[in-house]
Amino acid sequence: MLIIPDSRAWVEVDLEAVRHNYTMVARRAGPGTVVIPMVKADGYGLGAERVAKALDPLKPWGFGVATADEGAALRAAGLMRPILVCNPLPAQAVALAAEHRLTATVADPGGLDRWEAMAEKLGRTLDFHVKVDTGLGRSGFDCRTADCWSDLCAQATRRGLVRWKGVFTHFHSADAEEPAETFAQWRRFQDALSRIPYQKGELLIHASNSAAAMRWPELAGDAVRPGIYLYGGHPSPALPASILVPPRPVASVRARLLLVREASPGSTVGYGATYVASDRELWGTLGIGFGDGLPRVLGNVGHALVRGKRVPLVGRVSMDLTVVNLSTVPEAEVGDVATLIGADGTECIMVDDVAHQAGTICNEILVGLGPRLPRIELARGAT
Ligand SMILES: *Cc1c(COP(=O)(O)O)cnc(C)c1O
Repeated sequence: MLIIPDSRAWVEVDLEAVRHNYTMVARRAGPGTVVIPMVKADGYGLGAERVAKALDPLKPWGFGVATADEGAALRAAGLMRPILVCNPLPAQAVALAAEHRLTATVADPGGLDRWEAMAEKLGRTLDFHVKVDTGLGRSGFDCRTADCWSDLCAQATRRGLVRWKGVFTHFHSADAEEPAETFAQWRRFQDALSRIPYQKGELLIHASNSAAAMRWPELAGDAVRPGIYLYGGHPSPALPASILVPPRPVASVRARLLLVREASPGSTVGYGATYVASDRELWGTLGIGFGDGLPRVLGNVGHALVRGKRVPLVGRVSMDLTVVNLSTVPEAEVGDVATLIGADGTECIMVDDVAHQAGTICNEILVGLGPRLPRIELARGAT
């Protein structure tokens, strides 16, 4: 474990594990399929720039982001590969995306017009992928009207200002045990593709997120777009390893023990005094709270690791502080480093466990880790 002397709490990011998880996805997808690592939302809260730089030597196709700003930040960090903005651009962000040579997602005729107008204005050729809606319903051209929109996109490409480079869709239930919905979406996608006149290799065809990429190489197309798996989050924790090999953990959340004290029977802790000491207990106060992204609902439910032992969080998690019951770790001292997510000795709290206890998914837990927690890299450079 890495000790950061002057922080009350921090996040450790294991870049070697990110590279390992990337390699797992790439292998599973097979040799004919490239990988588009999703580094949106600042690399799922772990740092888009550091993750992209760690993966760049592994030769991904490029990177996937959610917004033009995220793409611009990667360009500013010196990343040269294609960057696909996977969501439709608001009109106000089109110029920024074009200036940084981002690949736009076109999801309606207006989006295509704006991209083409910007190409004309800047006098430079701009690339785009088409998003096809096969059931997620958030964005994209309707998969049933492929004849119409493919004609628009082909015409625009012929005018020479924009280049149509890819087509993609996004699955809504790849993490569900039952695969039928995903296969139905894939069929709708194939049906749309069959009505687009294009030569093999002209367009990059992609659909799979982490769960789909790891479960069904046959749906990989030309590229896969993993996110959460790269960051050590199990996309579908209920599935056994025979169906989906778990990723290697990436993020560890640590916090220091700021105070240790004895609590007499009847002592209460936290807002609402929801926990009462039943006996003489030893309590420790950790310098982390929901203001750092530790879910408030973990109060009286979640755990921390102290000196390699699992101890319960007692009382409500407050904004900056969380109390643990250290009665089983009497040797604990002020200054000890507690683990809220990650391993300590042989014990480990998985991000999936925390997500489950908080009634959400790993993605939300990682993305919710706040800016108050410094991110510390455990490994750097090439493998
Ligand atoms: C976020 C995102 C992904 C990655 O999803 P995970 O479930 O995190 O792997 C893939 N494609 C698109 C369009 C996304 O927005």
